Amino acid sequence: MPKVLIIGSGGVGRVVAHKCAQVPEVFTEIMLASRNISKCNTVRDEIMEKSGRTILTAKVDADNVQELVSLMKEFKPDLAINVALPYQDLSIMDACLEAGVNYLDTANYEPPESAHFEYSWQWAYKDKFKEKGITAVLGCGFDPGVSNIFSSYAQKNLFDSISTIDILDCNAGNHGHPFATNFNPEINIREVTQTVRHWENGKWVESPPILEPESIHFGFDYPVVGNKESYLLYHEELESLIKNIKGLRRIRFWMTFSENYLTYLRVLKDVGMTRIDPVDYENTKVIPLKLLKLLLPDPASLGVNYTGKTVIGNIISGVKDGRERSVYIYNICDHAEAFKEVGAQAVSYTTGVPAMIGAMLILQKKWNGAGVFNVEEFDPNPFMDLLNKHGLPWKLEEYTGKLPE
Ligand code: NDP
Repeated sequence: MPKVLIIGSGGVGRVVAHKCAQVPEVFTEIMLASRNISKCNTVRDEIMEKSGRTILTAKVDADNVQELVSLMKEFKPDLAINVALPYQDLSIMDACLEAGVNYLDTANYEPPESAHFEYSWQWAYKDKFKEKGITAVLGCGFDPGVSNIFSSYAQKNLFDSISTIDILDCNAGNHGHPFATNFNPEINIREVTQTVRHWENGKWVESPPILEPESIHFGFDYPVVGNKESYLLYHEELESLIKNIKGLRRIRFWMTFSENYLTYLRVLKDVGMTRIDPVDYENTKVIPLKLLKLLLPDPASLGVNYTGKTVIGNIISGVKDGRERSVYIYNICDHAEAFKEVGAQAVSYTTGVPAMIGAMLILQKKWNGAGVFNVEEFDPNPFMDLLNKHGLPWKLEEYTGKLPE
């Protein structure tokens, strides 16, 4: 009787809980846990009202390995889904090892004191998970997550060899606030203020951060939402995809930003509010970005008035049967529809649904193996089928446009 423990009750945790509750034949028992049990109980009550299903809730501090282990030994989950902050990744992995519980997350571990966006810390657990005979799946949201699966699906089904991948992430939604981030502001702002990198001809190529006048960007004509300025950005899935997609010449990641968002962020950066080193304020150490997080709207609260859509997908080029081809695989998700279904905006929805699908495949043993894996190391085909069934349908088109060289 598979049991799942979801750790983190923010926007993504809420979606994962709702989506797991929709599949009672796979998720027999569900527990939602975080430090603030009243948030967990709100989600529990909503699920009860929608589906009549009972889920369990618990208070846990995921920084505390022993507290996690006690909870796991009591509830005995088959799988723990980590949708708490990325800083907690390693303590939850440690607890899973001690309690013998499989593990899945949606983001890479970040050391609090510097921005990295790399998998080295989690990959270092490979042997320990292998010895214990349990599975850890990393980065099973949308990007990373579905963007990796689109790539491995193309490798398996559409190409003999792949030369380039461009991941294009567009949020054409409007939340009505002058400035807000769609997921944890600390992570979002660290991500977009860092030096940009992409992979080309066997090495990383650096370019200026998106806030600099020399940043690399172009207008891409997205399906349904139209032309949007898209900025070259570093994203962690590039690190695993260059290992797992064979023969890649180039891989890049692009994200849309409005001029309004960039202007706010430029000002915040210029006045020092995006710093992640502590500053002394009247004998108290304050990290400006943490203070900013406290002042900005909670991403989980944005869903209420959110309108518009996200369009996220990959343009993949290579050779099939001796002929060059390019395909565009993408999903369109509507903020208001996501909110109607699970009370969260599309950025949380597009992250939480893939986490539920990855969990389902692990519990059904369609994805198995002892060790630490990125999602593209498993069979993408059942995952792609489940995306269509559980709220993130995708489209596949031949791509005839031209991307910047
Ligand atoms: P939020 O910040 O909204 O939620 C994080 C949750 O973690 C909160 O409920 C918080 O609750 C809980 N939490 C934080 N610290 C602890 C702790 N020490 N112990 C227990 N619980 C804790 O994040 P989101 O829901 O927006 O995102 C979740 C994850 O998904 C993040 O890691 C994010 O980076 C990732 N993400 C991935 C995407 C992808 O496509 N792959 C896209 C978007 C996000 P409380 O305070 O009650 O403990």
